[in-house]
Amino acid sequence: MNITKPFGDTLALIGNTPLVRLEGASKEAGCDIWGKCEFANPGSSVKDRAALFMIRDAEARGDLKPGGTVIEGTAGNTGIGIALVANALGYKTVIVMPDNQSKEKMDTLRALGAQLVLVPPTKYADPNHFQHVSRRMAEETDGAIWAGQFDNVANRRAHIEGTAPELWEQTGGAITGFTCAAGTGGTIAGVGMGLKERNPDIRIALTDPHGAALYSYFATGELKSEGSSVAEGIGQGRITANLEGAPIDTQFRISDEEGLKWVEQLLREEGLCLGLSSGINVAGAIALGKQLVAEGQANPQVATILCDTGFRYLSTLYNADWLKQKGLPVFDWLEQSTAA
Ligand code: PMP
Repeated sequence: MNITKPFGDTLALIGNTPLVRLEGASKEAGCDIWGKCEFANPGSSVKDRAALFMIRDAEARGDLKPGGTVIEGTAGNTGIGIALVANALGYKTVIVMPDNQSKEKMDTLRALGAQLVLVPPTKYADPNHFQHVSRRMAEETDGAIWAGQFDNVANRRAHIEGTAPELWEQTGGAITGFTCAAGTGGTIAGVGMGLKERNPDIRIALTDPHGAALYSYFATGELKSEGSSVAEGIGQGRITANLEGAPIDTQFRISDEEGLKWVEQLLREEGLCLGLSSGINVAGAIALGKQLVAEGQANPQVATILCDTGFRYLSTLYNADWLKQKGLPVFDWLEQSTAA
């Protein structure tokens, strides 16, 4: 990593994240598995990139003027990214989120100065869904824009212009596979498009959690979900504008148990504390790596996204009582610390 060159302003800290080889995952897959350290962004998640691009895009269109307000419906990480970028540029932030998201995300948004509006979780077709509530608020507020991350393709542009060329350069053009899960789909679509521009043979795989409809969509053409997941920020039931035209070659479905196994292993053996979407992504990357190995590809190089920090989930993923309540396995040292 080049750390010698100083940055001129805090927004320049977004992106250009390190890429790290994941030892345990590489061993399991039989080839190199790389993790893009998106938790190293100032807001500790991949969504800082989309926040910056959506705000810059609204400014460029002339919709966002000095002193204006950015309003968004978000599961949390996008809101955290928006609040930081908005603070740096002198805008106000209003975030609408479902009230079942982690307490850490809510506390963080409040601490960053965002006005937080909590709504009960409901299906997308319901006008009270957080995305619709946030859009209406923006329409009714003077000087406000709605970021609209799901269908605002400035989101995926952050990955076409940022994440993808970074992965290409960091691997010296040797990358042969990429996979991650989709929330808005901005990351998978944007990285997929940006990498295919450079080498159309790079295999792009969607990794879907249970309870999402995209695995079935890319496998059979039908949007259909099965089971459920406690992973925050991922799991999509429709083809968002960001997902339109996404160059997906293959798809994997990964359970929470499998994702959690990698969350635990990455923490225990490699000292990385991550959220569940990262664990699911790593499990997907292993599946993709094994596929490329089985096909006889020489020296597959597979990358995925380490989406956010696990410190955001201390009351959920890293809490024995919460895991038990959800019927999920508990790491042994969590059991011990709860019992003590
Ligand atoms: N993981 C986490 C923790 C997230 O917050 C998000 C964003 N919703 C994603 C993964 C998925 O990213 P994207 O919206 O680009 O599909």
